[in-house]
Amino acid sequence: MIFTQEHEALRRTVRQFVDRDINPYVDEWEKAGRFPIHEIFRKAGDLGLLGISKPQAFGGMGLDYSYSIVAAEAFGTIHCGGVPMSIGVQTDMCTPALARFGSDELRETFLRPAIRGDQVGCIGVSETGAGSDVASLKTTARKDGEDYVINGSKMWITNAPSADFICLLANTSDDKPHLNKSLIMVPMDSPGISLGAHLDKLGMRSSETAPVFFDDVRVPQRNRIGQEGAGFMMQMIQFQEERLFGAANMIMGLERCVDSTIEYCRERKTFDTALIDNQVIHFRLAELASEIECLRALVYQATEQYINGQDVTRLASMAKLKAGRLSREVTDSCLQYWGGMGFMWDNPVARAYRDVRLVSIGAGADEIMLGIICKLMGILPGKKK
Ligand SMILES: Cc1cc2nc3c(=O)[nH]c(=O)nc-3n(C[C@H](O)[C@H](O)[C@H](O)COP(=O)(O)OP(=O)(O)OC[C@H]3O[C@@H](n4cnc5c(N)ncnc54)[C@H](O)[C@@H]3O)c2cc1C
Repeated sequence: MIFTQEHEALRRTVRQFVDRDINPYVDEWEKAGRFPIHEIFRKAGDLGLLGISKPQAFGGMGLDYSYSIVAAEAFGTIHCGGVPMSIGVQTDMCTPALARFGSDELRETFLRPAIRGDQVGCIGVSETGAGSDVASLKTTARKDGEDYVINGSKMWITNAPSADFICLLANTSDDKPHLNKSLIMVPMDSPGISLGAHLDKLGMRSSETAPVFFDDVRVPQRNRIGQEGAGFMMQMIQFQEERLFGAANMIMGLERCVDSTIEYCRERKTFDTALIDNQVIHFRLAELASEIECLRALVYQATEQYINGQDVTRLASMAKLKAGRLSREVTDSCLQYWGGMGFMWDNPVARAYRDVRLVSIGAGADEIMLGIICKLMGILPGKKK
């Protein structure tokens, strides 16, 4: 991928924003289990960072997706995983389908304020009994006059406690599981919506996560994105941006782990020798650095395909799989070289070790990525290419 001066300018803007408005507060937010999401999103919105690839007609910058990937990568300089994940939910998880398939009225109501940072969004797909198997979800939106009446619940919803709207995947008919779903924009202050307790997580501490319950929640049918029954397909398309964001966002955090470990291993001596001078250690760190470059190349290649209008499902799934697996490997190896210091809660590598564990689970677990790749390779039993 060739980067222009505009890409570099965007990269600088994100990094300055992160250095000035985010990183100085991350430790405090991690302890609090939340960050001032409305305040941070308004600042990001003022800089145009929440609508980089979104249509200009609704306040976006209208740039191609390579710019979004540059921003996703630069958001990886944030010293935790929770804040960039929350930003990614807003930019690449709960708004791509709205931006692409939503009516002008819906985009005016939800997309424009999301891009400005005036409203916080969340994405409601997973349920207690339906995470990997999205098609089996049980939440229903039944027609009643001009409205949908929604009943059910969603689990593990990032940003939900602060969100102004949810992009909800629900069953709108009794048709086959892949044909009976719609994506519906639901204001979070709608009567009948309630939240469960904040979920206490292993990592991603500064992002808020909660279950969301729907009890006879009424929204107009015009809040549906696109055609009725096309929700599963639209969510699968929306997942591609979620997975590319997730993979791109890992790269610089992993590099930071390696760099800080190199620094530590230069300082730390055992048996009168700096740790870094052990070949087993410097070889391992060099190998991990090489693997991170491979991840970067894969993300860029997938992005190039995406901006050329090609189906990116295969490469985006590979990038997501590789990001999950490699993140675990890098943080585990680096933590090892920090010894006892690495086992301390506040150690940056320990935080990364906890945070990145989600990458192999959320947005489609590793095994789901492997299933998709196998299907596209024509080696999934019973499924032709
Ligand atoms: C912190 C956090 C934030 C999240 N944010 C959101 C959000 O904002 N919105 C949202 O909708 N969801 C969100 N999720 C949910 C997340 O996407 C799901 O947890 C994920 O899709 C996995 O679903 P599950 O937990 O039900 O696992 P299951 O579906 O129960 O799977 C458990 C494990 O089994 C394995 N597995 C599953 N199926 C197969 C198979 N066919 N073959 C082999 N192995 C398999 C995988 O290893 C998987 O991890 C979040 C989750 C967490 C933890």
